[in-house]
Amino acid sequence: MYAGIPRERIPWYPTIDEERCRPAECAQECIAWCPQGVYARLTDGRVVVAQPYACTMGDISCSFQCPFDAIHLPSQRDLRRMLKAIRQELETP
Ligand code: SF4
Repeated sequence: MYAGIPRERIPWYPTIDEERCRPAECAQECIAWCPQGVYARLTDGRVVVAQPYACTMGDISCSFQCPFDAIHLPSQRDLRRMLKAIRQELETP
């Protein structure tokens, strides 16, 4: 739950720009940084957002770890809009 809303209803999590992501040329800082296990490396070598809803709401610190600026998260403004829209949806009978 976040702010009274089930976490799985809030689409707030990182996305990886596949064109920028270069796991063979970095230290996979995203995986090392995230204590929630949001990122994972697949057997084919790609790094993906494996557990998006495990992401700590509002925490964008992982995006600063990536040397290739491949990680993006919604802004605080986007988050406020999301929460407002979800609340309205939940309150609609
Ligand atoms: S997102 Fe950034 S830190 Fe993570 S594997 Fe890709 S390039 Fe490396």
